[in-house]
Amino acid sequence: MIKNCPVKKFKKSRSLVYDPERTTLSSSLSGPKTSLGDSANWAKLKYYQYVDGSSRSGTALEIKEDMIRKLIASSILFLMFAITTGCGQQLPPEESCNFVTNSLNRRVSWYRMPIQFYVDDSLSNEQYDAVLKATEIWNSHFNGSVFQIIGRTGQLPEPELDGQGRVIPDGYNGIYMVKPELFSNSLARDEQGKTSLSFRSDFIYEADILLDASENFYIGDQTLSSSSGKVELISLLVHEMGHALGLDHIEGPGNPVMQSKLRYGEVRHDITAAELDSLACEY
Ligand SMILES: [Zn+2]
Repeated sequence: MIKNCPVKKFKKSRSLVYDPERTTLSSSLSGPKTSLGDSANWAKLKYYQYVDGSSRSGTALEIKEDMIRKLIASSILFLMFAITTGCGQQLPPEESCNFVTNSLNRRVSWYRMPIQFYVDDSLSNEQYDAVLKATEIWNSHFNGSVFQIIGRTGQLPEPELDGQGRVIPDGYNGIYMVKPELFSNSLARDEQGKTSLSFRSDFIYEADILLDASENFYIGDQTLSSSSGKVELISLLVHEMGHALGLDHIEGPGNPVMQSKLRYGEVRHDITAAELDSLACEY
């Protein structure tokens, strides 16, 4: 039996790790339809195209380097898994801090930042811009990027749902505009959007945001009457991206963006102390 398992210590040291080099997503996506604004990053993505074996590109040397990196990355992941679950002691429950928790009542969160999202081309150009705005809002609260939008593409796999209406992980953090039927498993049928988190132990490894294409969206900072029947998209995205970070709903004073309900015509772009205090528990 290993003694002095560094479980709690490890968890505590999981402060926000900014890693602009991180590119775990792979496969054969073509360029985004809108400007990426960061060609270096795109080059990296293509470089990693080989890693998961979906297509072979790059020189032999690059491929070999990739394989070595992949091997090292898997070893680190295995070690992390061993440290957090295999030390012969159960991880202690944690206060939720408004986070989604796993079956051991521990908060789930990302180990590395930024969280990289692909935007499906079911979103229009304007809607893609709304994603960029929501990203900006979140990133402006942190000393570095928590979200990074890789681009807009028509090559993301269609999101598939399991029996409970959650997106089955496919290796991509995606934002999709989908038919309302994809919300049919949901308890709250009037949902405008939903986010699925995939996690192992207490580490999130994928987040997918589905938006109901049948909603009447508008974009901007103008509040409309609730009889307008329109949903302000940036507000909705800010909320769903909060879920992507691991946050659950937060009701209560101060008009948090993580309230479960967003009224028609309501604008809620400002991340409040309720969200930031909660996030501080984990990041
Ligand atoms: Zn929600």
